Amino acid sequence: MQKSLNYDLVIIGAGASGLMLASLLKRNPQKVCIIEAREKIGSKIILSGGGKCNITNKYLDFSKYLGDEKFVKEALKDFSTKELLDFLESQELSPKLDERLVEGAYFCKSSKEVLSSFSTLTKKIKLFLNTSVEDVSFEDGKYCIKNSKNLDIRAKNLVIASGSNAHFEDKDYEILTKISQKFKLDFKSFTPALVGLGLQKEQAWFKNLSGISLFAKLKIEDKNLEGKLLFTHRGFSGPLVFNASLYWSKGFLEFDFLPNNTLDEFYKKQMLISKALPLPRRFLQEFLLSIDLADKPLNKLNLEEKQKLEKLKSYNFAPAGNLGFLKAEVSKGGLNTKELDINFECKKQKNLFFLGEALDVTGQLGGYNLHFAFASAFKCARYLNKK
Ligand SMILES: Cc1cc2nc3c(=O)[nH]c(=O)nc-3n(C[C@H](O)[C@H](O)[C@H](O)COP(=O)(O)OP(=O)(O)OC[C@H]3O[C@@H](n4cnc5c(N)ncnc54)[C@H](O)[C@@H]3O)c2cc1C
Repeated sequence: MQKSLNYDLVIIGAGASGLMLASLLKRNPQKVCIIEAREKIGSKIILSGGGKCNITNKYLDFSKYLGDEKFVKEALKDFSTKELLDFLESQELSPKLDERLVEGAYFCKSSKEVLSSFSTLTKKIKLFLNTSVEDVSFEDGKYCIKNSKNLDIRAKNLVIASGSNAHFEDKDYEILTKISQKFKLDFKSFTPALVGLGLQKEQAWFKNLSGISLFAKLKIEDKNLEGKLLFTHRGFSGPLVFNASLYWSKGFLEFDFLPNNTLDEFYKKQMLISKALPLPRRFLQEFLLSIDLADKPLNKLNLEEKQKLEKLKSYNFAPAGNLGFLKAEVSKGGLNTKELDINFECKKQKNLFFLGEALDVTGQLGGYNLHFAFASAFKCARYLNKK
């Protein structure tokens, strides 16, 4: 008969939250193991921030997250930007502020150095790579972890740090749904977020703008967002649209393509519209075609034409949909945080913990998701270290 491998603590997932938790644990490393489906640790960390890991943000605040306000506030309270930066400094990682894409974003020199630091911190902990957890049951006070290697792994404490199916869409991620069902926990299905949005047929004129970017504002229900907007051959992308995808599920978005000006400022000008307005010329030419307005001197516009041009300030757009999980940086949805206490332990099922993106908390672009994953690990580690 196969020998059972008994651990005090098993972590499912060697990603951001699982690795941070393992790094902060103060218990005999021989009593802990990490099970990871992929052949390497940190498969999303390595891709993050275009290989430079946008690890946190100066403007960390619950308003940057979609999720239960009270829970998010509490989770971030004891693990601020400074606390994370101090931890990274102690590991000789010194992220730098780089606000070219998103305000307040801190980037590392490379994602590789972040991973290498986690590898060093967790080197004494047993790591099962290429091992996918397929199911979990609870027997005689222990979690029995069924896995693709048929190892008989059991744990007193189990941490689910399995993230979401964004970007990799494979079936390993189904473990979270299975565990939620097994322990009767409320789970909201994942949908892609921080992802581009596609075009309806009638807005095909945008396709001619592929490659152009501009600064815009966007209204989506009660949210006002601003940032860089990028036109692609499939639709809209860039930080502004990525953030919009967090809040959008259907219906209209309203763009202000000229957020820092009113059109009244320009109506006395004798120049052509496409030359006078501070927007890319190609964008203006296509926009004018789409609203059936000739490119003429601004001071020659009649009232009706001015009304047409006002669309620049309030352009309603109903996306055809998002570009799907494979293109998404994160997923929204996940385990309802009402199932957890503030140590990230399940209220109904003792010694079962959930961290990071597996939870129904999703941040905007700019380092907020890694920060939340780390903050959840911090809180959980602090509790486990006292236990
Ligand atoms: C391309 C890309 C770029 C990104 N850039 C940034 C960025 O710059 N800044 C930022 O804040 N966020 C970024 N993110 C999001 C960020 O990476 C995630 O939010 C974060 O990694 C979530 O941490 P986690 O620990 O919850 O999950 P993950 O880091 O995804 O880790 C989960 C781990 O669990 C493993 N796993 C899943 N199921 C199983 C199973 N059944 N058995 C065993 N193992 C399993 C997975 O293989 C994975 O290694 C980016 C994401 C992507 C895809």
